[in-house]
Amino acid sequence: MMIMKKNYKSEVIGMDEKTVVAGMSISEWKEKYPLMHKVINLEEAFWTNGKYESFEDAIKKVEIGMDDVKDAEERLKRFAPYIAKVFPATRESGGIIESPTVRIPKMKTEVETFYNTQIKGELLLKCDSHLAISGSIKARGGIYEVLKHAEELAMEAGLLSVEDDYSKLDSDDFRNFFSGYSIAVGSTGNLGLSIGIMSAQLGFKVYVHMSADAKQWKKDLLRSKGVTVVEYESDYSIAVEEGRKQSEGDPKMYFVDDENSKNLFMGYAVAASRLKGQLDDLGVKVDSEHPLFVYLPCGVGGGPGGVAFGLKLMFKDNVHCFFAEPTHSPCMLIGLMSGLHDKVCVQDFGIDNKTAADGLAVGRASGFVGKVLENLISGSYSVKDETMYMMLSKMIDSESIRLEPSALAGVPGAAMLLGDALGQEYIRARGLENLMDNSSHIAWATGGSMVPADIMDEYYSTGKRLLEEL
Ligand SMILES: *Cc1c(COP(=O)(O)O)cnc(C)c1O
Repeated sequence: MMIMKKNYKSEVIGMDEKTVVAGMSISEWKEKYPLMHKVINLEEAFWTNGKYESFEDAIKKVEIGMDDVKDAEERLKRFAPYIAKVFPATRESGGIIESPTVRIPKMKTEVETFYNTQIKGELLLKCDSHLAISGSIKARGGIYEVLKHAEELAMEAGLLSVEDDYSKLDSDDFRNFFSGYSIAVGSTGNLGLSIGIMSAQLGFKVYVHMSADAKQWKKDLLRSKGVTVVEYESDYSIAVEEGRKQSEGDPKMYFVDDENSKNLFMGYAVAASRLKGQLDDLGVKVDSEHPLFVYLPCGVGGGPGGVAFGLKLMFKDNVHCFFAEPTHSPCMLIGLMSGLHDKVCVQDFGIDNKTAADGLAVGRASGFVGKVLENLISGSYSVKDETMYMMLSKMIDSESIRLEPSALAGVPGAAMLLGDALGQEYIRARGLENLMDNSSHIAWATGGSMVPADIMDEYYSTGKRLLEEL
């Protein structure tokens, strides 16, 4: 096990301007990409994508599409009877794991006051924080990939066919069968939770390689379910690397590769069609007169990237998706802006990847996701940990919704878009300025319902204290 020195102090490591990253000195980087001044100084930064294209043009360059998302949707339907049987919390929805979408008008006023900006249009919250089974967005992709793998194994062995009632998987025969196989994953916490809980339920042996960011309660919960948790004092990339190494050379071990997985991505993408139905029910229109803006907290990129991809397939040019990252881990912002994706990491620029937003504590973005979304994503921005904490307290006070710090990164997105010169330019360039009163903004709340009450209280008081100090 590789041990790196723990250093939780949030401070800029400090890089010599002459340090060369991907063939350019840091000062050349700053000259070529002026936003790098802010990024390196850990200031909040808002970036819009110069390579953004119309949906029609952009989708031609991508090899995956609606058929892949439909395939994932069908698979989740096949598993629904099983899910409903083993996770009672999903019975009401017939074994479909889905979260509510709600209007948050009081929080909108709070954000407007905080940023001293008017948010034109409505603000809504997508509560993946309250997804059944694992309480985060990872209940989409993570669970989907485990189910897909289980289906493949069982079908290859002649034990299952698509016509079957999948609730038969809840039996000693199937658990015995799956116990001959194992699953490994590297995680900052939540992916481990969802992969661990789902795999253990099916009967797999599970190894979760946890980065130093992972919270103790997540490790405890997994161990209570018989999952083997391997702990590292280093960051997410190392945890993933170790998981990958462990599974190499073991044909019975399956590695869930968060940095490259198309399966995870498709599991996340299914969110779009579900959201469409919810928006219809809420009377929220999305069309050429009613633009939709979506703000997605981003770690390695699979979750927000998959959701954004699904949304683009669904709403095409009428949806505008932005990634949100901590100022200490803006890997996707740097990867997209430079077009270098996973060839650079935040540490290259002296940025420490130390953040309270553990779900977003990723220093190197997924190359797969960055490339798929290269021409489809509207932009990306970074928020300070302090901002996330303050938003966390405000969300509890105004709307009584409890989220983990990562899940708040999307909340200031609308204010940042409308308050930033580049954001204004994005709106003008697409002829949207007269439509903004008709617009909707969705902040994707990615986790929080499983956070123990005492830890949530600490988050809350941290936010309150920061607000008082303002
Ligand atoms: C994992 C996670 C994200 C981001 O997903 P990625 O696939 O890592 O980009 C956002 N919020 C929370 C709470 C998460 O756990």
